[in-house]
Amino acid sequence: MIEKQKSIYEKVILIGLITKMQNQVKSKEYLDELAFLAYTAGGNVVCRFTQKLDVPNPKTFIGTGKMKKVKDFIDQNDVSTAIFDDELSPAQQKNIEKILQVKIIDRTNLILDIFAQRATSSYARTQVELAQYEYLLPRLAGMWTHLERQRGGIGMRGPGETEIETDRRIVRDRIALLKKKIKSIDRQMRVQRGNRGSLVRVALVGYTNVGKSTLMNVISKSEVFAENKLFATLDTTVRKVVIGNLPFLLSDTVGFIRKLPTQLVESFKSTLDEVREADLLVHVVDIAHDSFEDHVDSVNLILDEIDSNDKPIHMVFNKIDAYEPEPWDPEDLAKEKTTKHNTIEEWKRTWMARTNGDALFISALEKENLIQFRKVLYEKVREIHVTRFPYNKFLYPEVFYE
Ligand code: GDP
Ligand code: MG
Repeated sequence: MIEKQKSIYEKVILIGLITKMQNQVKSKEYLDELAFLAYTAGGNVVCRFTQKLDVPNPKTFIGTGKMKKVKDFIDQNDVSTAIFDDELSPAQQKNIEKILQVKIIDRTNLILDIFAQRATSSYARTQVELAQYEYLLPRLAGMWTHLERQRGGIGMRGPGETEIETDRRIVRDRIALLKKKIKSIDRQMRVQRGNRGSLVRVALVGYTNVGKSTLMNVISKSEVFAENKLFATLDTTVRKVVIGNLPFLLSDTVGFIRKLPTQLVESFKSTLDEVREADLLVHVVDIAHDSFEDHVDSVNLILDEIDSNDKPIHMVFNKIDAYEPEPWDPEDLAKEKTTKHNTIEEWKRTWMARTNGDALFISALEKENLIQFRKVLYEKVREIHVTRFPYNKFLYPEVFYE
């Protein structure tokens, strides 16, 4: 089921909508993200198509005229894949495939594909495979009708139908098996987590590509894979960290993304146990990203979904070195700055600093303001630690200076 992507880049096009819910600016942001996803999966985006529609066309997602333009472009430019920004219904997928005659992928499928490429542990692979089969199950019938047509159709209906049923059964059996496998790994992992004792547990959470793994590496001196791609890390990494003699556990978790396929949230729920069982969440934000506010919202939404929104959360705005002011925005705090970025004092005067108590502004890459980060982390962890081990109160001073 899990296939490795070819190393050569495929020529792909992107197709998205501008709707009442999703204006032109939003639509562009989504397509930017889709382009990044496509690139991560091994695609080279050669063109983007958008259409203004109140709701997606139920048969073909976009309208007939637009589809014709897309088809012409595909034929003239040797495009191999069309990627749609929203999840297509099985019927839409089938109809579009028939018209465009190339591989049709939607956002969900693309994310699943990236997860499949990135899954290294057997646990992550099992979770991805489960999500892939669950995505496939309702689409099986469509796929068969499609094949039938290729094989000529007439006379194929009977056996075709039986084969759909057989296929469905095989897929359902496989899903049941994978669920069982995940359950048993879950049990093992729960035991492992139980064995870790009652050390305070801190989890790094945040949108994908914000710098969680980079931060994990500089704080714990570990070597978690970090890369300028989406979902570089799927598996949770846990490291014991000691700041000022105070030990605690720090975990780096899978990043979140908007429009995350429901199948993935479901099957990755146990990966997210690390988040659910953490005592403190460090929410890392890429402040240099145009849509960072949206990213914060979607992370909060997912935290809500996994019942982790009531934990103490500390906001950390990362990549201050890469922040570029918007020249057209009069509200932008950096508008008249000639230097590349703001000072920590200036960041502290922004609304971000007030979102959640004492938000931090750092650069994990350039190691800016990390002393402050360690100091705050120490104080937060200590607070929890001494409620658990009251006699240790005198062991660790309230304030930690390096
Ligand atoms: P994750 O998906 O949240 O784990 O993000 P990674 O740690 O893999 O980082 C994603 C990309 O952002 C990598 O290319 C990092 O080098 C880069 N990055 C991380 N922190 C910073 C930072 O403070 N400044 C800049 N400019 N880039 C960073
Ligand atoms: Mg990572």
